[in-house]
Amino acid sequence: MANSKYEYVKAFEQPDLLLPNTWIVVRIDGRGFHKFSAKYAFEKPNDRRALDLMNAAAKAVMSELPDIVIAYGISDEYSKLTTTIVSTFTAHFVLLWSSYFPELPLSPPLPSFDGRAVLYPSVQNLRDYMSWRQVDCHINNLYNTTFWALIQMGGLDAKDAEKELAGSVAADKNEILFSRFNINYNNEPDMYKKGSVVFRDYELVEPGSVSEVVDEDSAKTMEQLELSKTQEEKDRKRRAKAIITVQHVDIIKDEFWERRPWLLS
Ligand code: ATP
Ligand code: ATP
Ligand code: MG
Ligand code: MG
Ligand code: MG
Ligand code: MG
Ligand code: MG
Repeated sequence: MANSKYEYVKAFEQPDLLLPNTWIVVRIDGRGFHKFSAKYAFEKPNDRRALDLMNAAAKAVMSELPDIVIAYGISDEYSKLTTTIVSTFTAHFVLLWSSYFPELPLSPPLPSFDGRAVLYPSVQNLRDYMSWRQVDCHINNLYNTTFWALIQMGGLDAKDAEKELAGSVAADKNEILFSRFNINYNNEPDMYKKGSVVFRDYELVEPGSVSEVVDEDSAKTMEQLELSKTQEEKDRKRRAKAIITVQHVDIIKDEFWERRPWLLS
């Protein structure tokens, strides 16, 4: 390739190396989806078609990128990994749109997503991250379910619904839902209450059976890291073949992880 006086700009590309042996979380978030959901008249508080579409796009990303465990990646290059995941997700979201919203053709501004990568050095940190998101899902959904019940069934406007809920705790919201609208929050769909977990499904381990304890946090030597590469390649092939499932389950308690030891070890 011919050199030119302009080539020096290539040196500005930094390698963006990540620390080996850490869990990489890539969080994807729709850009301006408040407006986007209004444009396509998403049902409030939860549009089932939109959630199914998000899940379908996440599933498609997982089958395309076998390194991803439970929608979380393991790799060595930050920007490459993040951009690959975000653009793959967006591409599938757009491709699958018409299957979930057949009567509403997409038009500009088209949906797009932002992505951020965060490194978690221990399994505990990673599990705490997942728990944090699931708690957030619950808090938001309880609020949104009550907020929209006040509007849709109680005839309040958004301002009054917000006022009504200011300073309320979870028990107050459950009470409003039950006594005024005869809604038992516990009977709301798990998809809305717990979110969606996408992962590769292998055989479950019986609850209570003792599984091998893997000390994932212990430091590995360089040789061990080299040796584990062949194993990694094998695992990668196995992952590429596995069935990907979407479930709406508790990922805060130990049980989910204990019964699926292939996820975090
Ligand atoms: P930003 O670009 O900063 O992320 P945003 O408008 O996307 O801005 P978020 O905090 O990400 O804001 O919130 C996403 C919004 O999209 C929610 O507040 C909600 O109004 C809407 N939304 C997304 N998915 C659904 C859905 N399945 N059903 C109903 N509304 C949805
Ligand atoms: P920014 O995107 O500007 O960096 P942020 O990190 O505060 O801002 P936002 O995407 O703006 O995150 O989200 C605003 C609020 O919505 C936060 O309280 C966050 O906990 C919550 N939130 C964001 N993404 C999700 C999600 N995918 N599911 C549930 N709650 C979310
Ligand atoms: Mg968001
Ligand atoms: Mg955001
Ligand atoms: Mg936001
Ligand atoms: Mg958003
Ligand atoms: Mg924001």
